[in-house]
Amino acid sequence: MSINELRKKLWDYDRCYRLGEPVISDTEYDFLLRKLQKLEAESNEKIPPDSPTQRLGGEPMEGLVTVPHRVPMLSIENTYNIGELREFGNRVAKLLGDTSTLDSKKTKEPAWIIELKIDGVAASLIYEDGLLVQGLTRGNGILGDDITHNVRTLRDIPLRLTTKKPPKQIEIRGEIYMRNSDLVLLNQSQQNAGLTTYANTRNVTAGSVRLLDPKICAERRLRFFAHSIGFCDGLNVENHFDFLEELKSYGIPVTPHVRRFDSFSDAVDYCESLYAADENFLSDLDFEIDGLVLKIDRFDLRDKIGSTSKSPRWIIAYKVEKYEAVTKIHEIRVQVGKTGTITPVAELEPVELAGTTVSRASLHNAEEIERKDIRIGDVVVVEKAGKIIPHIVRVEKHKRTKKLEPFQFPELCPVCGGVLLQDNGGVLIRCNNSECPAQIKEKLRYFAGRNAMDIEGLGRELIDQLVDSGLVKNFGDLYRLTWNKIRSKNLERMKAKPRKPDEIPLLVKNLLDGIEKSKNRDLGKLLNALSIRHVGVRVAGILAKHFGNLEKIRTATEEELSNINEIGTVIAQSIFNFFRTESAMIDDLIKELIGRNRENSHQNTEQKNKETRLFDLNSGSDILSDTLSDTLSDTLTKTSTDVQNLPLQGMTIVVTGTLEHFKRNEIEEVIDKHGGRVSSSVSSKTTFVLVGKEPGSKLAKAKNLGIRLVEEPEFLKMLGQ
Ligand SMILES: [Zn+2]
Repeated sequence: MSINELRKKLWDYDRCYRLGEPVISDTEYDFLLRKLQKLEAESNEKIPPDSPTQRLGGEPMEGLVTVPHRVPMLSIENTYNIGELREFGNRVAKLLGDTSTLDSKKTKEPAWIIELKIDGVAASLIYEDGLLVQGLTRGNGILGDDITHNVRTLRDIPLRLTTKKPPKQIEIRGEIYMRNSDLVLLNQSQQNAGLTTYANTRNVTAGSVRLLDPKICAERRLRFFAHSIGFCDGLNVENHFDFLEELKSYGIPVTPHVRRFDSFSDAVDYCESLYAADENFLSDLDFEIDGLVLKIDRFDLRDKIGSTSKSPRWIIAYKVEKYEAVTKIHEIRVQVGKTGTITPVAELEPVELAGTTVSRASLHNAEEIERKDIRIGDVVVVEKAGKIIPHIVRVEKHKRTKKLEPFQFPELCPVCGGVLLQDNGGVLIRCNNSECPAQIKEKLRYFAGRNAMDIEGLGRELIDQLVDSGLVKNFGDLYRLTWNKIRSKNLERMKAKPRKPDEIPLLVKNLLDGIEKSKNRDLGKLLNALSIRHVGVRVAGILAKHFGNLEKIRTATEEELSNINEIGTVIAQSIFNFFRTESAMIDDLIKELIGRNRENSHQNTEQKNKETRLFDLNSGSDILSDTLSDTLSDTLTKTSTDVQNLPLQGMTIVVTGTLEHFKRNEIEEVIDKHGGRVSSSVSSKTTFVLVGKEPGSKLAKAKNLGIRLVEEPEFLKMLGQ
């Protein structure tokens, strides 16, 4: 193999590595890299600056050089408080004024981006004509340290951007970090070598990037996520979302799980739901975050409101307080969740963490226990971030003084004794007994929660008593509760003596009031409350918006459900199955929610409103408060007379490949605006497939099914452009 061939091969391996799909082992890669280095040394040719061997690190530096940043790396405002976050949003809205006049897009509010705030070391990468020329630390924001020699060793960072038309100059900013799993490996080798171990990934990263000898940094397996732009010459993007897409096409890894929201309040709701949830992707990340970052998407709007001397006005970090402690696992128990999911929980030797005593930590699932090799008796590092329940970061394996047995997952449900089954292909193990009291209690807790039916006065202990006494077996039972029924059971918590013989105790009165009030929740909250597997706040909102009423959702086919953007086949199947198996329960609940006087001809307005929420078209979704409903029904009538004339009316369209005139996220809006609907998969219901450059597998499927193919020029004609 010639030098050039070998170099090309290694570039290919680098590209796959950055995509998270390495094709050869690190050892093999290192072997080939050394081989290339040898060949380069023997050859008289000049070594190109982006040769993979340039990652190996040259001679140690004598000292770090300080370099001024061309654009200051300002710090960003941050808060730990949701109220302050909302205030920030109000402030920005005031500064922006009415943005609808700024362009033709109809949105009154600017879109917001949410990114993970990676807990690493901020760095800036400067590329000229596509070639990496400099890497700097943030330093004090005005002056940074030149760490080019170390930055080059990160395989995540391309030495040359993988694009034919790189911008003349670009400064890409982001975070250098280390994966938790890499820290475990590093600590093991430190331990084997009789060296000290590191407490957390951030410390190792900060120390490593400033090392003078790049060979040591190269061994640390640091990584990089890009999240913003410094200066740029020759890049034509107008918003952050497109900027990230552009970076991806350059081969630069960008922060994962980036989401865009139509309004600030939607973005805040999402943050809140992420922090409040016991189970979400945050706790499964293999790297540390210390919060979420909210930023305005459009660059022109960012320019409009500018910066203070300290920080830009269009960005804020919503941080979570994070604390770590070392403790010991006494026992591993399993808990039953609302959909029967069995979650292993570690019982810990109580330890002080963030001002509270922590004695338990979620272990998520059996696979997690196996991956982190967590055993009863282990010494572990526990972390608590914000409202997220504590979790185990890693096991201090070098502190295993005696032989510990791997944890054996139980075969029976600890509450009802039912057989535990593994999800098909999934990592979750669940109890499939729908009458399992543990599941009923969890379902009721979720049902009564803030993002669901929001029943004040119905806490964990009351639920336990209501279920254990047999008073409540399902959601409908809640609405049938009366003081007499509660009194007959003589429940511990509800025995408070009334002053007068007939008076209802305050606790019970509050509970019954809370239950009554919950009848007025909108469709999104109701759907979320039902504990449908895979349906949380977000999916519930999408369903409510799309269908508008419960009956339509109940009768929707699997295909109708999976054709909704953002709802995949797994979720669709789960929703479909739920409404089949739980049909009687839903009937019963609806009957209670709209009241038993439905047949009564003297319906009052409130009664009608309740029915409307469940059955009428123009109701239910989150966007509809009572005050808005008039304007909305106007809009609905208007749309329905106009729809006949829309060019894509009634068409289901699948898009594949890159389009010339539309960004990926724009095309959906365009199709939507012209009366069509975008579907993510080709089926017999597809009207046509819009084919762009480098189409994917959808093209082949469309050809197989004989679906009409439309290229961009024809599509533009259809739109009348
Ligand atoms: Zn069970």
